Amino acid sequence: MADVVYMDNNATTRVADEVLAAMQPFFADLYGNPSSMHSFGGQVGRHIDQAREKIAAILGAEPEEIIFTSCGTESDSTAILSSLQSFPGKRHIVTTRVEHPAVKHLCESLDSLTGHKHRLTQLAVERDGTLDLAAYEASLTEDTAVVSVMWANNETGVIFPIATMAEMAKSRGILFHTDAVQAVGKIPIDLARVPVDFLSLSGHKLHASKGIGVLYVRKGSPFVPFMVGGHQERGRRGGTENSAAIVGLGRACELAQANLARENSQVRALRDRLENGLLASVPRAMLNGHKRERLPNTTNISFEFVEGEAILLHLDRYNICASSGSACTSGSLEPSHVLRAMGVPFTAAHGSVRLSLSVYNTEAEVDIVLAKLPPIIAELRAMSPFWESSHSGSVGQSQCDCKCS
Ligand SMILES: *Cc1c(COP(=O)(O)O)cnc(C)c1O
Repeated sequence: MADVVYMDNNATTRVADEVLAAMQPFFADLYGNPSSMHSFGGQVGRHIDQAREKIAAILGAEPEEIIFTSCGTESDSTAILSSLQSFPGKRHIVTTRVEHPAVKHLCESLDSLTGHKHRLTQLAVERDGTLDLAAYEASLTEDTAVVSVMWANNETGVIFPIATMAEMAKSRGILFHTDAVQAVGKIPIDLARVPVDFLSLSGHKLHASKGIGVLYVRKGSPFVPFMVGGHQERGRRGGTENSAAIVGLGRACELAQANLARENSQVRALRDRLENGLLASVPRAMLNGHKRERLPNTTNISFEFVEGEAILLHLDRYNICASSGSACTSGSLEPSHVLRAMGVPFTAAHGSVRLSLSVYNTEAEVDIVLAKLPPIIAELRAMSPFWESSHSGSVGQSQCDCKCS
């Protein structure tokens, strides 16, 4: 099998060698339970404490503000459900139309989950994926319990102004949660200056292992546990600590902090070279998402009149891993909720491809994609009746009888 060109780092990342090495002893020699009375277990607790300090450091937080969870999804659920329990009289939630399903689907399921009726505001985004702050401010009411807005979008990489948004919520006594799963390790974060109450992150998105997440809870912010059991995490999250993954995440955060400058120079330069090359060589290709207010590693490009999944299958022949905003053949008839919220035209939303890089990508890999992808688009368009008729000027969205409409 040819070498994999992995450009799907917003889906998951490889575990860094240094992280794997840090984790290894906790499967074999250091398997004790940190809650045990004996020192064999107790020593594991000290490693967990050190990891907690490293994770706090990359966030500009205090170690006591870090709670280990099983994943980003658990952190998101915990923060939002906790906020609603902290303010049982308030039944309004503000979020956006472009959140990850971990926030979006939870917010949409709150009535059936809690047995209470909630009012949900899902803020619209502009054509470039950015938010209208005036509309956000106008949405905040006396009844608003919590705002949950992602720091950076997983599909487009668009970054939201979390500092300003958290200030607006705080000045009204509203709790603020941010899903920062895509932001941590890619852009600087300093919670000493950004007054969020809760922040979620996930290990497997920053070169640690799957199955480990963090919920940051600001000192003094009200908190109600989600997982109730033992006294782990100071009674804020029951369950025996995933010590290997926690220690790995500590090491990953240390590496991410050291790599932050590289992320914004080397990774950004590779991403820009890839993006500019594709936009220049493929006709009717367009960038989805704000050009500058964006993560350095992500590009999302629409190739009109082709099916995103078909592009992915062709890329797969060359062992190039990417992802698509279209899921026509996998049962979902709608293109990505993010691209739809941005108002990306139907014929373009279906042909979107997300390429997300990491510090492990090379210029040679970018060149492979630049060589392989444009001919794939040309080949698929040659077979597309919509591309044909777009040239004769007769196709419009209304005339497209694609089953995916
Ligand atoms: C991946 C991701 C999640 C979910 O994290 P898991 O650890 O896989 O549960 C949540 N939010 C965003 C923005 C993500 O990219």
